[in-house]
Amino acid sequence: MRSLEEYRDIVGEEVISSIYRKARTLYGMKVLEINSTYYGGGVAEIMNSFIPLMNDAGVEADWRILRGTPDFFDITKKFHNALQGDKINLTQMKKKLYRQASGDFSSYCHIDHDCVIIHDPQPLPLIKYYRKRQPWIWRVHVDLSDPNVKLWEFLKSYILRYDMVVISSPKYRREDLPVFQRVIYPAIDPLSPKNMDITDTTIAKTMKKFGIPMDKPLLSQVSRFDKWKGPGEVLDIFETVKKKVDCRLVICGSMATDDPEGQEVFEQIRRRADDRIKKGDVLFITSENNILVNALQRSSAVIVQKSAKEGFGLSVTEGLWKAKPVVASNVGGIAHQITDGENGFLREADDDQGFADAILEIMKNPKLGVELGKRAKESVRGKFLMTRLLSDYLDLMNYILK
Ligand code: UDP
Repeated sequence: MRSLEEYRDIVGEEVISSIYRKARTLYGMKVLEINSTYYGGGVAEIMNSFIPLMNDAGVEADWRILRGTPDFFDITKKFHNALQGDKINLTQMKKKLYRQASGDFSSYCHIDHDCVIIHDPQPLPLIKYYRKRQPWIWRVHVDLSDPNVKLWEFLKSYILRYDMVVISSPKYRREDLPVFQRVIYPAIDPLSPKNMDITDTTIAKTMKKFGIPMDKPLLSQVSRFDKWKGPGEVLDIFETVKKKVDCRLVICGSMATDDPEGQEVFEQIRRRADDRIKKGDVLFITSENNILVNALQRSSAVIVQKSAKEGFGLSVTEGLWKAKPVVASNVGGIAHQITDGENGFLREADDDQGFADAILEIMKNPKLGVELGKRAKESVRGKFLMTRLLSDYLDLMNYILK
């Protein structure tokens, strides 16, 4: 397990010492965090690094996963889509199955912690199944700016019971929610296998192992196969780019256990790209492998993130941290990470031509990519590393437990 001490060289002594200072008043406090998957997607990514570091700082942090049936995850994925604006047929049966997972969990998971943090909508109803003896915080990672009204009203019946809601952007603040809302930006772990420095030999070996040739400039997107991440449009953009510069596209998307639509989206996209796959111009990677993501991002000439909605977009943070030029949609949390032309390029989510032009500009002028990349890395160091997240949570706990 990594310790805080190991981050000293990356973020400086002042940051580490301030974390120890903030943790002092919380020694021995017990906090419980609950989400619905241990791998795949941004939440699991954060938890894997965050929980051990919280313990290292002196707070006793537990992490539990809400179990669910395939039906449950079908429903919660529909909830996820509807929170981002899709329609939903919110039947009594869906509500019942949704609640049931929390009810079942409460029959075997006992809570005697000083603070409870619930991630995203899947375990949200848990609060109804416990005698509430401590502050409960709902930490939502999704873009809440335009939710389906019916679903939002239903979820509010649970959210109103919480002491605080933590959101990923000021843009997601809800005027119709009389619960204290606090913004905490997500973060990446610079020492995790996905983000740590690796040698050129490791990069070359890893790319070879996964059959990704390095003879042409690479364009890549790393994301779950999800319609909101725009994998189809990435293919279209690649077609435009390839007419001007000979390059290769790699779409890397593992499946998350709480996202049942992944396989279907993947099959659709793969069929569309069939000819390109046969020619070796487009490659799909579906295995979950952190070193591969690390090597792929580092080998890319340009990293793309063509999301229509994005709560925050850790894949973008990861690309920026690797000092790579990132071209991404001007949506949700991505806009907090990239200043257009400064540390990457932002394009409107429906502007495929704009994406292609920005990618070509970088591919034709590698110096530009290097400059953007340098500034990209420093922008992440200042704002989006795990130590800052830890510091924000310690502030939050000091506030709520005082
Ligand atoms: N990810 C991965 N392998 C993949 C696809 C995604 O490890 O094939 C990781 C990615 O590196 C990032 C996370 O999943 O850490 C995605 O987080 P993000 O916030 O971008 O999106 P989310 O999936 O939470 O919507």
